[in-house]
Amino acid sequence: MAPSRPEIVPYIAAWSGEQPHRRQVVYGPRGGLAFADETIEDRDQHGVLWNGRAMRRGAGRPAYGDVHPARQRVAMEHLLCQVCGHAAHRDARGVLWLIEDARGEWDGWPEGLLTTHPPVCLPCAGMAVRMCPHLAGGGTLAVRVRSSDACAVYGRVWSSSPFGQPLRTAARDVVAYGTAAARWVVAGQLVRSLHDCTVVDLQAELAACT
Ligand SMILES: [Zn+2]
Repeated sequence: MAPSRPEIVPYIAAWSGEQPHRRQVVYGPRGGLAFADETIEDRDQHGVLWNGRAMRRGAGRPAYGDVHPARQRVAMEHLLCQVCGHAAHRDARGVLWLIEDARGEWDGWPEGLLTTHPPVCLPCAGMAVRMCPHLAGGGTLAVRVRSSDACAVYGRVWSSSPFGQPLRTAARDVVAYGTAAARWVVAGQLVRSLHDCTVVDLQAELAACT
């Protein structure tokens, strides 16, 4: 039997041992949402409520499609690599991001792009391309981003209802900080807008570092 390939579990992926906290959502004293048993750690510096989840990285099985809210937020806030959790790569043209190729979506793409995906370091970018050939086949672009702004969250949108409790809607959306809607979302991921972007050749970036 061939030896199995070592599993790489991204830093931001949740594990089965990290179950979400089930919290009762109520109306806040100043409007919008609150948790019935809310603590100061439940909100970010903009006052937006966040999903709580156990923090036991490595416990149980990795849940690849399931993003851990606290680790994703830390990675986005501090520009850490989404795969290994160390600092993302930065040079004079900015921080390295791997972005789904959507050139042509608008003039100047990806300028102003909103993303929930944290940046990457060079070794992890190289590994991602080796392990996922479709990344090298044109589906994903390497982009240097000189400035970015943690300007929004992505999460479950709630609404007011006539039944005494907020209503959990089916919608998950990007909600900008500072808007009225930000009081009606329970955030699961931090969103950055990307600016001063340069599309680069990832193979050249990797070669320059070896
Ligand atoms: Zn990395």
